[in-house]
Amino acid sequence: MFDHFGREVSYLRVSVTDRCDFRCQYCMAENMDFLPRTDLLSLEELDRVCSLFVRLGVSKLRITGGEPLVRRNIMWLFTRLARHLESGNLKELTLTTNASQLARFAADLHACGVRRVNVSLDSLDPRKFSQITRGGNFEQVLEGITAAQREGLQVKINMVALKGVNEDEIDTMLSWCGDMGFDMTMIEVMPMGDVGSEHTEQYLPLSLVRARLAECWTLTNVDYKSGGPARYVKVGETGRRLGFIAPLTHNFCESCNRVRLTCTGQLYTCLGREDSADLRAPLREDDSKDGSYAALESAITGAIARKPEGHDFVVNRRDTESTLDRHMSVTGG
Ligand code: SAM
Ligand code: SF4
Repeated sequence: MFDHFGREVSYLRVSVTDRCDFRCQYCMAENMDFLPRTDLLSLEELDRVCSLFVRLGVSKLRITGGEPLVRRNIMWLFTRLARHLESGNLKELTLTTNASQLARFAADLHACGVRRVNVSLDSLDPRKFSQITRGGNFEQVLEGITAAQREGLQVKINMVALKGVNEDEIDTMLSWCGDMGFDMTMIEVMPMGDVGSEHTEQYLPLSLVRARLAECWTLTNVDYKSGGPARYVKVGETGRRLGFIAPLTHNFCESCNRVRLTCTGQLYTCLGREDSADLRAPLREDDSKDGSYAALESAITGAIARKPEGHDFVVNRRDTESTLDRHMSVTGG
């Protein structure tokens, strides 16, 4: 599938739930109103829509949320999607998780063909971890990460840079990732959803993080590209890759290869824009007829053709209007 600007869309991220067992400060408010379960796509509908994306040319599928591993019976979906890995039509099936439930699921995920997993971890200090996640259990997360490693899943750590919160731990995290054999990606706070505190207060530009790291570590630019917003360096002392996802300070849109499906079936062709296409209605409409996917297919290809050229993010003290209404947990980070 190609968009209007000639970019090939080959990567789909799917949020399977807006719920989560954590309440990370930058992602959710303390008291979240979650969507009624009836608004969510069923697992069977998720399988159907993902499978159509694969047929249309998507070769990489990332399951996310919310916390994907708290969705009831989620392994059913992974097991179903595994058939596209077996057929060779899908090159990678993966997930982003907070790892709280990973100890339970690591072996099954590996059995379904999952080989890599992104784990979000913003602190190695159990107290601070609990503070950032508003109640997350650090030990449980560590057990999840250990289980993933034991089962042969390659782990990448995502760390959100938070001003005055974990900025003093970035060195430690980089060193720990080196010891564990993990690549790491730093993420800049994005202005998404009402989280009960100002994103501007949490915003720490990654240009500053990188400059500080360069004082103690040997960082060499590498050409590796994932088709997304990350830019990578090699860390000389650890031999691991370090990514920087800085949508607010870099423009990455010209090579963007991805689209996102929310847990309610809205397709966002750009993370930083409000316009979306509803896939739930055509999905259900097709279902009620003869099992052909004509309406769904035309909704998908039409939306991709309209994929915008670039995003609109702004974090500016005077421009609070620009915060996107939706939370990352609904859209899928
Ligand atoms: N619960 C899973 C997790 O935390 O890995 C998957 C969903 S979470 C929404 C996906 C990623 O989005 C996480 O790495 C998280 O740190 C990031 N994220 C959430 N809200 C964000 C925000 N406002 N700005 C930047 N990153 C955010
Ligand atoms: Fe949950 Fe992930 Fe959001 Fe944290 S970042 S609240 S773990 S969905």
